Amino acid sequence: MNKISELFAPVIGAKNVITGERLSLRGTGYCAASYDGGVLLTPGSAQDVSEICRLAAEHGLAIVPHGGLTGLVQGTATAPGQVALSLEKMNRILDLDPVQGVVTAEAGVTLQQVIDAAEPHGLAPGVDLPSRGSCTLGGLASTNAGGIQAIRYGMARDNILGLEAVLADGTVLDLNNTLLKNNAGYDLKQLFIGSEGTLGIITKITLRLHSRPSSVQTALIGCAGTEDLFQVLASARKAFGGSLLSFEAMWPEFFTQIATHLGNRLVSPDCGIYGVIETGHWGGTEHEDALTAFLAQCFEDGLLQDGTVAQSETQRRTIWQLREDADVIESLCGPCLSYDVGLRLNDIPGYVEQLQERIAKDCPGVGCYVFGHMGDGNLHIMAGPAPDPASHTAIDGAVYGVLQQFAGTTVSAEHGIGLEKRAHLPLSRPEAAIAAMKQLKAALDPKCMLNPGKIFTC
Ligand SMILES: Cc1cc2nc3c(=O)[nH]c(=O)nc-3n(C[C@H](O)[C@H](O)[C@H](O)COP(=O)(O)OP(=O)(O)OC[C@H]3O[C@@H](n4cnc5c(N)ncnc54)[C@H](O)[C@@H]3O)c2cc1C
Repeated sequence: MNKISELFAPVIGAKNVITGERLSLRGTGYCAASYDGGVLLTPGSAQDVSEICRLAAEHGLAIVPHGGLTGLVQGTATAPGQVALSLEKMNRILDLDPVQGVVTAEAGVTLQQVIDAAEPHGLAPGVDLPSRGSCTLGGLASTNAGGIQAIRYGMARDNILGLEAVLADGTVLDLNNTLLKNNAGYDLKQLFIGSEGTLGIITKITLRLHSRPSSVQTALIGCAGTEDLFQVLASARKAFGGSLLSFEAMWPEFFTQIATHLGNRLVSPDCGIYGVIETGHWGGTEHEDALTAFLAQCFEDGLLQDGTVAQSETQRRTIWQLREDADVIESLCGPCLSYDVGLRLNDIPGYVEQLQERIAKDCPGVGCYVFGHMGDGNLHIMAGPAPDPASHTAIDGAVYGVLQQFAGTTVSAEHGIGLEKRAHLPLSRPEAAIAAMKQLKAALDPKCMLNPGKIFTC
């Protein structure tokens, strides 16, 4: 370990090489093995990152990039002989152009920093996640994060205009760009978006910013079942078009745990499924009651059992807390496994029903809590307690076994593959596609020095 520290200290300074007790005092985030390699480097510039890559390659040390450690697929796990590299010191917003609507920032900047910097200009990033306070732009890009507004603004990929990445051999690849249109040859930045730190270390990012709605309306609704919720979604798309920002769903097992924990009585506890709808409005006050009027029509059409529109920012936050506070499930039910599957909307009711039956049969005592970005066909499933490898295998078998019975699905809609879902990648990508991914990896990182073992083995 000392040898490794001595190797990097001359490049980035001894205080930026963290080992031993200093390392053990740090939180490991959502990946318990984040620091199992025993060394964390905190460079301050792309040049530092480049030097680290060169040295690491020379000495056969693999590098695992770290952002805010909110990733949910063990993508930041390190093993002995690997060094973690955190972008936390590269945390400056470099430029924000309010007219063009773009922001360029170092990769360690958190999403919340961008939200705060954009707000005074009446702008906001298109990607928003519950982990906004900790997740970084580098993490967001390398996982191609989705989040609660993907239905309106797309995923990270749709919002990133350019980036800078350092390759395994230390080459700094300047793919930065602030233009909306730039078809000069291959759009290489796309390789680094969603590749989970396996092809390069992202050091800088330029994001599109969107005009912030002058008002938002948020509703919590309860329907008898999924079919009715789909009807509400279809009607909301027609009624609001591009003003529909979010359409989220919570199944009763999930909603009831959190609502009871938060002492919340905003809607009846007896609905078959719950949803959160958020709409954004620009300009005058003529849209102020649009969501209320929409819900009134849904009631009249027999689609809603209950519903309430937030009357204040506090109430809006309470509604979002019900949807976003998924950690409550673990604190109440014990350690859970979390899944992030994607299906065609029509298949969702059948999938959830069969999954619940299968878990009840194969995994006695395990709770199954389902919620997610319904408008995107993206379900998050928390299942637990799962105290040992045998229960892990049984729950995986249920989640993916049932998923395989439907066509056109994915084992990872937005969280990525990491280590956690590696064994299940072939369920979502054909053999030839995985072989092409491996060729790409071999071309850019032939010695497998960057985040080895994540997504697939090399
Ligand atoms: C409460 C909660 C809610 C969440 N909600 C959502 C959601 O709605 N949608 C969604 O998509 N995700 C969600 N996530 C998952 C997570 O927040 C996102 O994946 C996020 O983008 C990860 O960012 P991070 O900075 O924490 O990355 P980390 O966890 O640090 O890293 C994630 C992966 O990216 C790699 N990486 C990190 N930084 C870099 C870099 N600079 N260059 C190259 N590779 C890098 C890491 O090696 C790792 O493989 C949620 C997580 C939590 C805890």
